Formats: sequence, C-alpha cells, structure tokens
Amino acid sequence: MPDTDTLARFAAVVGARCALSDGMDMQKYLVERRDKYFGKAAMVLRPGSTAEVSQILAIAHETGTGIVPQSGNTGLVGGQIPDDSGREVVVSLDRMNTVRGADATENTITVDGGVTLQAVHEAAEAIDRQFPLHLASQGSCMIGGNLASNAGGIGVLAYGNARDLCLGLEVVLADGRVWDGLRRLRKDNTGYDLKDVFIGSEGTLGVITGAVLRLFARPRDVALAFAAVDTPADGLRLLELARQATSGQVTACELVPRIGVEFTMRHAGARDPLDAPSPWYVMLELSSALPGGRLAGEMEAALADAFERGVVGDATIAASQGQMDALWHIRESLSDVQKLEGGSIKHDVAVPVALTPLLIDEATAVVERLVPGARPVPFGHLGDGNIHFNVSQPAGADKAAFLARWEEINAAVHEVVLRLGGTISAEHGIGQMKRDLMPGIKSAVELDLMRSLKQALDPRGILNPHKLLPEAE
Ligand SMILES: Cc1cc2nc3c(=O)[nH]c(=O)nc-3n(C[C@H](O)[C@H](O)[C@H](O)COP(=O)(O)OP(=O)(O)OC[C@H]3O[C@@H](n4cnc5c(N)ncnc54)[C@H](O)[C@@H]3O)c2cc1C
Repeated sequence: MPDTDTLARFAAVVGARCALSDGMDMQKYLVERRDKYFGKAAMVLRPGSTAEVSQILAIAHETGTGIVPQSGNTGLVGGQIPDDSGREVVVSLDRMNTVRGADATENTITVDGGVTLQAVHEAAEAIDRQFPLHLASQGSCMIGGNLASNAGGIGVLAYGNARDLCLGLEVVLADGRVWDGLRRLRKDNTGYDLKDVFIGSEGTLGVITGAVLRLFARPRDVALAFAAVDTPADGLRLLELARQATSGQVTACELVPRIGVEFTMRHAGARDPLDAPSPWYVMLELSSALPGGRLAGEMEAALADAFERGVVGDATIAASQGQMDALWHIRESLSDVQKLEGGSIKHDVAVPVALTPLLIDEATAVVERLVPGARPVPFGHLGDGNIHFNVSQPAGADKAAFLARWEEINAAVHEVVLRLGGTISAEHGIGQMKRDLMPGIKSAVELDLMRSLKQALDPRGILNPHKLLPEAE
C-alpha cells in the first residue's frame, strides 16, 4: 500500500480536487461497462498535463507504486481496471483533452491522449477531413486508449487499425522521463520505430499523453447496402465482386447473423431491413471522395451481378442518411443487445480472411456440441477475418451456470482459431482477461522478447502490473 506520504505527494501534483480517494468518487474508474472486472485503488489521479503525468510516474518509480493508465474506460479485457489489492493508483487522462492542432495540407491532427475519438472526428471535420477510426464506443473512448489497445473497428478494411493511423507519439516513460516522438513525418527511417513499441502495449510500457494522427479526404459519396447471403462464404464473394466492379473504395464489410437482427428488433427498436429472413447479412459500404452520387448506381450494379451469380438474395441500398443510420444501428447494437438475452460468452478472434467461413462453421459446431441449445451470434469484420464469435446462453437457461463454462467454451473455440492459423485477440487486446492464455499462444522466444522490452522500459514493473504478460515461470 502506498504510504500516506506518497499519496500526499501524488495529490500535490494534481491538486486535491483531482486526486480522488473517496470510494464513491473513484467508483466509475474502478468498474468497466461489462461489469466483469471490479478493482480497488489507493487513489485515482486526474492529471491535466504531460508534466503532471511525468511527475506522477517519477514518484511511482521511486516508491514502487503500481500505476494503471486509463483513458475512456471502454476496454473490453479489463486492462484499465486496477487489481483488488487497493494498492494501485489509477491515472486517468480524462482531463487531458486538448486538440493541439490540425493541418489540412499535411492531413494530420495532433491531440492529447485524453481527447475522445468523437472529438477527433469533429476536429477533423472542421478542416474538411476525416479520421477513419470508427468504434461504437467513440463517444467515450480516448486516443490514448485507442492507441494503447491498437483499436480496430469498422474502417480497418480500408484504412488499417489505430497503429496504421498514427504518425507520432508523446509518451511518459515509467521513470517519468518524457519521450517526445510527436513527429508529423510520413517517412522516417532513423532506427527503431519506437512508437510501434508503445502502440498496443496496453499501458504496460508507458503512458501515451499525445499523438499525431493521419487524416484523410472526407467521403462525399457513400453507398451502404444490407444484403442477404446464405453463407459467410457468399459474403466474401460479394466483397470480391464489389472490389472489382466499383470505382469507390470498399470501406466496410460487416457480417450480421439473422439472430443478431432478431435481437436488435427485440431490444433495440430496429426494423427488419428486408422482407424475408435470411441466415446471414452483409453490410457493404462504398465511399469516394468525389461528389456526384455515382456509388449508389455502382452498388446496385454490383448487387445485380451478385444476384445473377447466386451470391446474394435480396438486398437494400440506403436511400437517405436516416436509412443509413438505421442500418448501422443494427450493427452497432449487436454487442449491447446480447446482454438482454442472458449470459454471453465472448470471443474476439481472427483468422486469415479466406478461412473465416470455416472458422464460423467449426466454432459453431463445437459450441453446439458442448452446450446444446446455445445460440452463437458470430458477427463483425468479415473483410478483416475478425469475427466476434459471441455465444448467447440457451433461451431460458440458468445464466450463472452458463457463464461458469466461459473458460471451457473459450478453450474449444480458441482451439479452432489456432488450428486455422488465427489469433485469440484480434482487436480488444490481452489485459487481464487473456493474460494467462499467452503461454499457449506465444512461443518461448516471443514471450522472452516481450519480457525483455518490459524489463528495459519498466524495470520496476510499476506500469499496469499483472496485465498482458504472464509471470515468468
Ligand atoms: C460498445 C463498444 C464497442 C467497441 N468496439 C470496438 C471495436 O470495434 N474495435 C476495437 O478495437 N475495440 C472496440 N471496443 C473496445 C474499446 O472501445 C477500444 O479498445 C478502445 O480503443 C479503448 O479505449 P479507451 O480510451 O476506453 O481505453 P481504456 O479502456 O481506458 O484502456 C484500454 C487499455 O489501454 C490502456 N491505456 C489507456 N489509456 C492509456 C494511455 N493514455 N497510455 C497508455 N495506456 C493506456 C489501459 O491501461 C488499458 O490497458 C469497443 C468497446 C465498446 C464498449
């Protein structure tokens, strides 16, 4: 437990009002939205500047205090939640929310780590550009957290994940030194790319306090289709056809199962987009920076071609922004509505894109064998091979008894994923949830390299202790 003197030193850095130690005040920083991880903390600190983060880490380094970096607290693997010892200190970036600058010629924006993703979108739009990272959590999640977890989302197909969208970083190191890597360069081959070490490190190697992000032309023509397909394999065929036959870029290719549409109709006020039900749907988005409204026609032609080839059944193309929003509402509600159907066991997995249909078939068979009546809800980023293979409990079953089988079902699904050359965490990270699975998915050499990096950058092990990396045997 940090002693009173240490806590007083932390509080002096940020000021009494931003050093929370009352249980009620700290509560929202100690629980995550799935109610899966509950932590305790000696204190929650809300620094207002990089200099304050630097002073906090210098004290933590000196006193050996565990620090848990937190941004929007939307992470899904418990990485941002302290353990239950009450010894750790949460450092929240929620006051560091300044957009430092944006440049339309360079197509860059420079922001504090605590700027929300939504605010980045708005700042980009203000200079007629877009930042193409799109997550359903964008109103709450923050750039520091997005980069620390290398977030993915719907636009990865066209623009890559958070790592691909970052040009430079400012990071406070474990001992309090500040690495100013806020470069706005498109090309820089001057040795190791240090920013890539911190991106995806989930708060275990440094605290990201600033970032330079890439911007892109705003789409002026967008077409969105909701197409019925018999199988996920047909969904991939549709993607291929659309890529070949349209002049716009395919900017989303999302898989939605029938059960997901039914859940959103039941719990999220969605309307069935097509007249007859289909086992699967693909949401396909085309975008172009050129105005002129060509894409809807091209989408229609691509769908007609797909229909003739037997790839697509019925389909609809959104005719207005309202219709687009209604279709995206279905996709974006898919996580939340599962809560209302009882227990849901989650998997955030990816395989090589062409193997995605096989993954879904095999994982479904395995789950149905283990829990007869279980309701798989595989959805998500078909074009990236990244499926959220969530499993809802059998209707009317005992929730606790179903959730007690979390690890068993995870193990069975992960066996399929690994056999297909995939990953057990495509975009959510490792955090606490998957830490103990690391020895089963990483070679001894890879774990050794990761531990060497941790030792070099955080020799006292104060940054996000017990997350991501399992203890060495
Ligand atoms: C409804 C919903 C939808 C989502 N959809 C997606 C999706 O499509 N794709 C996807 O990839 N993720 C998704 N997520 C997960 C989550 O939103 C993202 O991972 C997001 O990037 C986390 O950002 P955050 O600011 O909330 O980070 P937090 O939850 O605060 O932290 C996440 C991790 O990063 C570390 N961290 C936080 N800030 C810093 C910092 N400044 N410096 C160093 N380390 C830090 C934390 O310690 C923790 O390990 C979704 C979550 C929700 C709730």
